[in-house]
Amino acid sequence: MTARVDLHTHSDCSDGALTPAALVARAAVREVALLALTDHDTLAGCAAARAACEEHGIRFLAGVELTCEWQGRTVHVVGLAVNDADPQLLAHCSSILTQRRERIRQIASRLSVAKLPGESLVEQALRVPSPTRTHIARAMCAAGLVPTPQHAFDRWLNRGQPAYVAGQWPDLATVVRGVTGAGGIAVLAHPHRYKVSNGVLRQLTAEFREAGGGGIEVSLAGMAPAAADRAATLARRFDLSGSIGSDFHEPDLPWRPLGRFDKLPEGVRPITAHLGLSVEGRS
Ligand code: MN
Ligand code: MN
Ligand code: MN
Repeated sequence: MTARVDLHTHSDCSDGALTPAALVARAAVREVALLALTDHDTLAGCAAARAACEEHGIRFLAGVELTCEWQGRTVHVVGLAVNDADPQLLAHCSSILTQRRERIRQIASRLSVAKLPGESLVEQALRVPSPTRTHIARAMCAAGLVPTPQHAFDRWLNRGQPAYVAGQWPDLATVVRGVTGAGGIAVLAHPHRYKVSNGVLRQLTAEFREAGGGGIEVSLAGMAPAAADRAATLARRFDLSGSIGSDFHEPDLPWRPLGRFDKLPEGVRPITAHLGLSVEGRS
């Protein structure tokens, strides 16, 4: 049996609901043995998460989910087992976070132009290390402007809507180098969520591998069996290790529970082996 592993989680240092310590406490209840914190473009929660993991006897990997651009599309790369004090990776994150804050301010202006309280709607977002549009969507929902955060994206924040501001992201090879340069392994995040053909996904995976990528997420909460099969096929074809995670953001989303128990697909090397970690022996 494989131990419970979760290598993709978010805290309130980005768009997660829980503090790093509360996230780890929840992982402990879920009997997770190996946990990575992978907030969007920030390592700010890693120290607190590591300390909490030590307390709970959970093995911790410092991680980050870096946003990048590939062929005009937004792609996410998870960096695992990075040195969270690496100066270059910290500088990379810092420059992305500056751009993220600038984007949030531009969105605030557009909301204000539309006679919405732009400044107050982005207040919460600008208080966290890594502000995201999800923060604004939640604030719009809390203010009663939209029935759900998704409505905020559909009506205001998405491309083509009044408050849309395009993100400026580094390219794929740059973020992969950022991860490997900090001693980590770069993992292509949630391949099933990119709305591209199988051929384009193969091309993305090939370029990711070429750039120094080492893993691909083959098992995530909410991944359909067919999507998991496609990811496993990519892992085998491009000799990438298989990673597992929940992409946990908040306890109120029961379809993304913390801690995954799926076995890796046949013929896929577990990323734990790549990292030289043994997490076998628990059921
Ligand atoms: Mn997120
Ligand atoms: Mn993502
Ligand atoms: Mn994520």
